[in-house]
Amino acid sequence: MATTDHDYYELLGVRRNASEAEIKRAFRQLARELHPDVSDAPDAQERFREVVEAYEVLSKTETRDLYDRYGHAGLRSGGFQSGQVDFGNLADLFSAFFGDDVLFGGRAADRARGADLAATVEIDLVEAAHGVTREVPFDAAVTCARCGGDGAEPGSEITTCPNCNGSGRLQQVTRSVFGEFVRTQTCPTCAGSGRRIEQPCQECRGAGRVVEERTIPVEIPPGIHHGQRIRLSGEGHAGLVGGRAGDVYVEVHIRPDERFVREGDDIYATVDLTFTQAALGKTVAIPTLDGEEELELPPGTQPGEIVVLRGRGMPVLQRRGRGDQRILVSVLVPRHLNDEQRRLLRQFDEHADERTYEKAEGGLFEKLKSAFR
Ligand SMILES: [Zn+2]
Ligand SMILES: [Zn+2]
Repeated sequence: MATTDHDYYELLGVRRNASEAEIKRAFRQLARELHPDVSDAPDAQERFREVVEAYEVLSKTETRDLYDRYGHAGLRSGGFQSGQVDFGNLADLFSAFFGDDVLFGGRAADRARGADLAATVEIDLVEAAHGVTREVPFDAAVTCARCGGDGAEPGSEITTCPNCNGSGRLQQVTRSVFGEFVRTQTCPTCAGSGRRIEQPCQECRGAGRVVEERTIPVEIPPGIHHGQRIRLSGEGHAGLVGGRAGDVYVEVHIRPDERFVREGDDIYATVDLTFTQAALGKTVAIPTLDGEEELELPPGTQPGEIVVLRGRGMPVLQRRGRGDQRILVSVLVPRHLNDEQRRLLRQFDEHADERTYEKAEGGLFEKLKSAFR
């Protein structure tokens, strides 16, 4: 039933030919001013109800037409009943005015949960290969030891918050043409704790939490990649009373190792041979993730040749197996020769024939392709 005899256009303060958008804007403006949660005016509730009703009628073409032609009587005979409005359509509008609490309720546990925090830890590539445990320092809000988190000086009294009677939340029931709805908000007096502290704790000044530098051993799994984060559940900032602590996200930075280049789970290294070593063959010490190792390079090793050490790369994170280590052979050709050296090389060249430089199967290009798959 239409419950007011006031003119709907006058109630909203708009002209009779106002557009839909103008009507909506006027309604939003008035609803904000008149909502009983906000307004102290004694007639706010009554006016709010009228404004909502006016908006219900004027926001829909069907009822607006009826009202324009026949006034309130037209609506009554047309069977219009205020309060039959589709609430879903207005949900957005309502949360815009009053916050989502009106419609969805707040989740206390979420609010009380402590914040997450971030920390970083830097490790070497070799440590990343084998896994390592590192003490990671960070500043976290922790429960105050002096007051046990309740914020009150030990021995002092804690009483019930008079504003919310200890619930921590304020509920306001509003009756409107939509029916009754309940608005809930955190009590501003006690910030949701429901208690009143007569004498705040000296240590935390009533906050119940203090900032503490903590160190926590972080287990970094073998095979971790640069920039990956490890979550330490419940090690973040302490929650408000009763809330659980947040998490710590430790970002792992891997210091570049000048001996290796990592690509995924494979690592690359280079080895330098002089041209005589390459020709005669040479056993060289090469760096691996497991320490130095001897590598035998046969006579006739070519520049650009790649030696693959299967399963000697980085471990595959959280799985079995390891990548490969690939060693690129670089051959140094002399840049500066003295007369004697030049003479010996010429002499050598005179003894060289086709067989001396015979090509092996699979040239350099094929090897490069297979190395970089
Ligand atoms: Zn305290
Ligand atoms: Zn309170």
